[in-house]
Amino acid sequence: MTDSRRVCRDYVEAASRRVSAFSHFKTPLSRAELTPEVVAVSAITRECRGEVKTLPGIAQTNLSQDLWQTIRKDPNTGKISIDHDLVDNYLDNEATSPSTLSLPALQDFGRMCGSLAVVGEDEDGNRIAKRLNCRREWCSDCRLVERRRRIASSLTRLLQIDCMGYDVITFPQEVRIFMKSPAVLAVKAKQARRAYRKWGYQKVFDRWHYFGKNGEKYHPHLNVLYDGGYLSEEQFAKKKDLIRRKLLPRSIAKRIKKDLVIHSDYTQDPKLKMRWISYVMKASFIEKSWDRPLADALKGFHNGCFAGFWNDAPKWKLTGTDKKFNALLNVTKGFHPVSGKPIVWEKTTYPWVLLSIENHVDIGGWWYLFPNERAPPEGRLDLTNLIELPDDDDRKHPNEIQREIARHRELLSRREDYELAS
Ligand SMILES: [Zn+2]
Repeated sequence: MTDSRRVCRDYVEAASRRVSAFSHFKTPLSRAELTPEVVAVSAITRECRGEVKTLPGIAQTNLSQDLWQTIRKDPNTGKISIDHDLVDNYLDNEATSPSTLSLPALQDFGRMCGSLAVVGEDEDGNRIAKRLNCRREWCSDCRLVERRRRIASSLTRLLQIDCMGYDVITFPQEVRIFMKSPAVLAVKAKQARRAYRKWGYQKVFDRWHYFGKNGEKYHPHLNVLYDGGYLSEEQFAKKKDLIRRKLLPRSIAKRIKKDLVIHSDYTQDPKLKMRWISYVMKASFIEKSWDRPLADALKGFHNGCFAGFWNDAPKWKLTGTDKKFNALLNVTKGFHPVSGKPIVWEKTTYPWVLLSIENHVDIGGWWYLFPNERAPPEGRLDLTNLIELPDDDDRKHPNEIQREIARHRELLSRREDYELAS
């Protein structure tokens, strides 16, 4: 057996042992298995159905040709924008769920993301809308939106870290190939959180970046934010040793003669903390074509996990332009950013184009504030100028009868006029 094969076997075995040890690591996989997209990838399902009849040169679809040709065209340019790949995608979904062409499938076209929204309001009727996004790292429509949302929702906890440590753990080239699995990534991230907790940190957050700066090459590295400060050289070496032992079996490190690279820094400066948080929350898998199988496998993968105790009061405040996150922070906690009162969200979704017609304020992260729909309360009605009508007053009759009385009066008066004239 060659060296690399042995490394491969050990690594996968080590990872799978740990996978079985923590039942929740199976969750991303089993959840992925349930999604129509993943189930539909099975070629057997498609062949078994055998319902799709195709003619030479005609796209493989069971939509009517007229409809299909319309769908293929870009509504803006009129050019054909959907290629054969998407025909397959369509069929995959159609094969398993003909009644519900799932939204995520359409989002591959890059058009549907953000087209629906939910609305909510506080007890005073202050309305807010949230556009729904696909949350995929490679979605060019919502990548930045999702990053903002991630930052906003993590801040509630990360604001509790007084002195913030930031480590980046990089894995050697030789083992990266085995890390193209959500299960392994989940195990490694959990092992890291445990190692940091074991070292004595109370608050630990970690999140994967899948690709480097320029992408294309798979380069998984784990970002860790924690409540850490200065360590002596000796302590730092000890800590690195602990992390390395927990994340990479020593047998493998010896065989490949390489180890994890760990970069470490710490700060108390709010600006720098915010820059780190923003960087950690960025999307790194920005082109699906870099690794389509991994992209598919990552559907439903929960990236970015907290460990430890997060019940403290905030230890630092956002400064300068970072203050814009205060409004979003409130929304992620479920409060209206202006009134500070709890928002009750409706279950119905609405097309965003319809909602957007009304005047609104964009507060970022695809959240929008709408003016209060209810009219302001009016002053009490003044009833003092009303008088009671006498019983025989015509105005006490209903309108129809009043009109009838008026018509008869008109007739009588004409007759009188006629009689006078004659
Ligand atoms: Zn999206």
